[in-house]
Amino acid sequence: MVEHLSTKMSAESTKMGSFIHWFRNDLRLYDMPSINAALEKCTTFYPVYIFDENDIKEKQITYNKVRFILDALKDINGKLQPNGGRVYVFKGNPTDIFSDLFKKWNISYLTYEVDVQPAWKVLEKSVQQICQQHSIEIIKDVSHTLWNLEDILKANRGQPPVTYEVFCQVVEALGPPSRPESYVNLEKVLMPKDDSFPIDLPNNPDDLGVFMECIQQSNRIWIGGETHALKHLDARLKVEEEALESGIFMPNQAKPDLLGPSMSLSAALSLGCLSVRKFYWSLQDLHERVNSDICVPDSLIGQLLWREYFYAMCMNNPFYATMVENPICLNIPWTTNEQHLQSWINGKTGYPFIDAAMRQMVQEGWLHHVARNAVACFLTRGDLWISWEEGFKVFMKYLIDADYPVCAGNWMWVSSSAFENILQCPTCISPISYGRCFEPTGDYIRKYVPELKNMPNEYIYEPWLAPLPEQEKAGCIIGKDYPQPIIDHQEAANTNKKRMDIIKESFYTKMVPPHCSPSNPLETRVFMWLPENCIENLMHHRN
Ligand SMILES: Cc1cc2nc3c(=O)[nH]c(=O)nc-3n(C[C@H](O)[C@H](O)[C@H](O)COP(=O)(O)OP(=O)(O)OC[C@H]3O[C@@H](n4cnc5c(N)ncnc54)[C@H](O)[C@@H]3O)c2cc1C
Repeated sequence: MVEHLSTKMSAESTKMGSFIHWFRNDLRLYDMPSINAALEKCTTFYPVYIFDENDIKEKQITYNKVRFILDALKDINGKLQPNGGRVYVFKGNPTDIFSDLFKKWNISYLTYEVDVQPAWKVLEKSVQQICQQHSIEIIKDVSHTLWNLEDILKANRGQPPVTYEVFCQVVEALGPPSRPESYVNLEKVLMPKDDSFPIDLPNNPDDLGVFMECIQQSNRIWIGGETHALKHLDARLKVEEEALESGIFMPNQAKPDLLGPSMSLSAALSLGCLSVRKFYWSLQDLHERVNSDICVPDSLIGQLLWREYFYAMCMNNPFYATMVENPICLNIPWTTNEQHLQSWINGKTGYPFIDAAMRQMVQEGWLHHVARNAVACFLTRGDLWISWEEGFKVFMKYLIDADYPVCAGNWMWVSSSAFENILQCPTCISPISYGRCFEPTGDYIRKYVPELKNMPNEYIYEPWLAPLPEQEKAGCIIGKDYPQPIIDHQEAANTNKKRMDIIKESFYTKMVPPHCSPSNPLETRVFMWLPENCIENLMHHRN
């Protein structure tokens, strides 16, 4: 052991000191520029992950997400072990924990990847303060987004681009994003084992005090970790390649599949098991190989640009996920109705497609994009007229891929709170027809709303219309075994349309606060995955 250590030290004689890498939403060892930079300077590396005690106490982080994170940490651990390393996992307050570790391990540098979410910024400030007290240098770099978001703002005269179209123009002027960096080279670094901390990682979320909310959560659907994400990426690229060869640019939109095994990489992206630059360049290289004429915004690469657009939009806006103080969000006089809100959260609205989706989210921690659209529209401007802020909180709690800029941005979009001319087609997202057009078999509902498993197809989206003998035959009496609809959709849609019209009219007489908006009606249709005939409605209602 001593010999091994001294060989390393002499070969790397210009390096000095130890660093901690603070893993957050970057749970991988590929494309980690801040670690690579520290490895140029240091001899010793301590990888650290901290579960925030407050998130656990306040139940802001749920079973599925913690299990996914633990998978990812075990994966990193497995890669460090052959070189003698391990990940140190803590639960507590990062500032207090770092304060102890800096002294204990004689640390010179702290590294992390940049994450612009306001909550991180606040935490980073206090961590920066203790770094200063301990004379520790911070090395941070950008890999969670395709571009350095500061560069996007600078290129747009200091402002976040307000439409996706403008965003695309700005990033085109910046040039392509950097390619991902290679795997962290662990050959020439020491990773001492500090046995004063438990050797084993927490086995499951229970060890951290995070418990299942329902038995279905024991059913693992999503597997975390870089190894799994890279395999998953290969499979996804094969599907994209076959589709491109047949002239299809968005295979998952061409055939939305609510029931099949999902090809989604959103959880891997939001927790950083997959580098977004790796995803982007794998797709870009594939497109070059298969069809260099492709129009990027209409492809899967375009989806990654949407992600980036929302990230850019939340820059320097600490109120991005709120309504009143948020400069890009319109003040809509939403109502409060705790009973309706709870029915929505618990999947008991009496609208089977909405209930199936809400139950799937709680049970599995994931939802297809069309199901997200449906439940978001139902809660806000479609039916219940409840603020998108409530929905945002629930999504952030349950989704494994919960991603603050993307989640709040999508909620503002769908509810028309920042993108007010988006949903002027009130019949488009009905809790009945929208789901049926994507999943006509009703099996999605049967899977997550077992009360309705024997309901005939004809009534599966509107079981209250089934005559009593049909309900009896299906073993599900509406109002007893499954709720009556908590609201009349048609009535609510009409009322809400009138409310939106009044808000719109008020914009004619007063200054509209500066806010983001869709670039054009076609963009709206594609974003909402609406049928092609909706475009006329959207054009008609354009502001
Ligand atoms: C109300 C609402 C809330 C949402 N909250 C989140 C969230 O917290 N985290 C999240 O990752 N996605 C969120 N989305 C966007 C989208 O639904 C998911 O990214 C998508 O379902 C993931 O499926 P996929 O990986 O198969 O997507 P793909 O079509 O394979 O897209 C690839 C990647 O592009 C990004 N992307 C795709 N669609 C969007 C979009 N509309 N906006 C921004 N980025 C996108 C995601 O990172 C996604 O993984 C939300 C959508 C709505 C309507």
